[in-house]
Amino acid sequence: MKPKVGFMGLGIMGSAMAANILKAEYPLTVYNRTIAKAEPLAKLGARVAASPKALAEDAKIIIAMVTGPEALYELLFGPEGAAEAFGPEQVFINMSSVSPSFTLELGKELAPTAIRFVDAPVSGTKKPAEDAQLVILASGNRRRVQDLEPLFLAMGKKVIYCGKTGQGSMMKMFINLLLGVMMEGFAEALNFGRLGGLDLEAMLEVVSSGAMNAPMFQLKAPNIRDKNYPAAFPLKHLCKDAKFVLDTAFELGAPVPAGQMLLHLYRIGVAQGWGDEDISAIAKVMEHLSGK
Ligand code: NAP
Repeated sequence: MKPKVGFMGLGIMGSAMAANILKAEYPLTVYNRTIAKAEPLAKLGARVAASPKALAEDAKIIIAMVTGPEALYELLFGPEGAAEAFGPEQVFINMSSVSPSFTLELGKELAPTAIRFVDAPVSGTKKPAEDAQLVILASGNRRRVQDLEPLFLAMGKKVIYCGKTGQGSMMKMFINLLLGVMMEGFAEALNFGRLGGLDLEAMLEVVSSGAMNAPMFQLKAPNIRDKNYPAAFPLKHLCKDAKFVLDTAFELGAPVPAGQMLLHLYRIGVAQGWGDEDISAIAKVMEHLSGK
């Protein structure tokens, strides 16, 4: 008999991940602040909890996949918060992207409940989430992570054990720093070429024909070509992660000059009202800065 799972946060990622947990035949209860987003999962057979606390009362493993620290605090420690129902027989997995220091702090705050805590953010975006092809960046007690592997593999293609609690979040910040820099570099170079009179298709062909090619460039090129940026990974979330990278880098004494620039550029995107568009809308930031 598979353990009962409770899933909080049915946004772009959470709704797809929860659907895959159901497909793998785990008994599932879901909660989302905006309750209407739970309807498609209810139709697939999930129970819908009226509060995070009600969800935690009905599950052995509780997963959160929400924006970040503020949302997590609201769901865990706010009114009718899940932590009120947490106990030693349960496991809480945070899969949201947060900083390593926040993860350590959260672990301390959950300690009085005696719940077992696992830090497991994901690499991969909307499509891999829908296709159960995420890479799970798990950290915490190794044995516990191993026990959770079947559940993780309902959502992903691979589990990478990152080390002690907080290292999953550190790995997530590492990969998102690289993602942000690559996306920004792609948009910056294309805008540079555009202003120099190059044809977009010719530039894309040069990229895809050489060692510089990357699946992400192929994935994002259609958005830039069509000047249409439907969110797979919302720009505002990469902006938030850039801030976590900088905070973490400051604590570590790590130089992140490109990370500094990323926060600045993605904030311009948010200020322009493009935060809910995809990270590839950084191309619009480049056009905006060049004034043409
Ligand atoms: P999203 O579509 O914006 O969904 C955000 C979720 O958080 C929604 O369920 C939202 O509830 C909930 N939420 C936000 N503020 C809240 C609050 N104060 N109280 C309670 N719930 C709150 O985001 P997403 O793209 O699924 O991303 C979720 C997490 O995964 C983020 O940490 C993101 O950085 C990370 N991530 C995203 C991607 C990606 O490609 N999209 C990839 C890897 C990791 P409502 O529906 O009520 O607003």
